[in-house]
Amino acid sequence: MEEEKQYKVLLIGDSDVGKTSIVKRFSDDAFDEDILCTIGVEFKMKVVNVDDKDVTLCIWDTAGQEKFRALISSYYRGAHGIILTYDVTKRDSFNNLQYWLNEIETFSTRPNVVKLLVANKIDKENREVSREEGEEFAKKKAMFFIECSAKTKIGIQQAFEELAHKIMETP
Ligand code: GDP
Ligand code: MG
Repeated sequence: MEEEKQYKVLLIGDSDVGKTSIVKRFSDDAFDEDILCTIGVEFKMKVVNVDDKDVTLCIWDTAGQEKFRALISSYYRGAHGIILTYDVTKRDSFNNLQYWLNEIETFSTRPNVVKLLVANKIDKENREVSREEGEEFAKKKAMFFIECSAKTKIGIQQAFEELAHKIMETP
């Protein structure tokens, strides 16, 4: 029998960009306007089908607050894929992406960890970061890129499928 594939995937990015909402939309197909701030680490499992194979994603979501810093190295350990998220209506969350890339550099235990840049909240009207800027940054940093909305669902399923697909292609 073929071995069942299981991959560890993390979400990182500034607080409030929609990390927990993205996981909730993907795993439960639900959305809350008033979500409670994530405390510590939450963990969800979900099966996706890639090239006719079922693969299990173990998705780790964190608050990323400094007081949980002690958790961070175990959070990153062994991750196959990282979803780096920003909010297209918050320029700061885009400007802080380099900070998160440095965190990956410091803590990731796999040199070829697959990185996906996810631009969230594209349903909102007050956009501050264009699609082109996101694409360009992703390209420069050797990341894949997708725009999404946890609220309207657009791009969410594709983001995780794409990530699973890239992970499977990566040695
Ligand atoms: P986290 O701190 O990164 O985990 O962000 P949350 O998932 O807690 O989301 C922060 C806030 O943004 C919440 O009020 C969510 O309802 C809202 N939110 C998350 N994703 C979206 C989205 O795609 N569109 C809109 N309009 N709001 C969103
Ligand atoms: Mg959260």
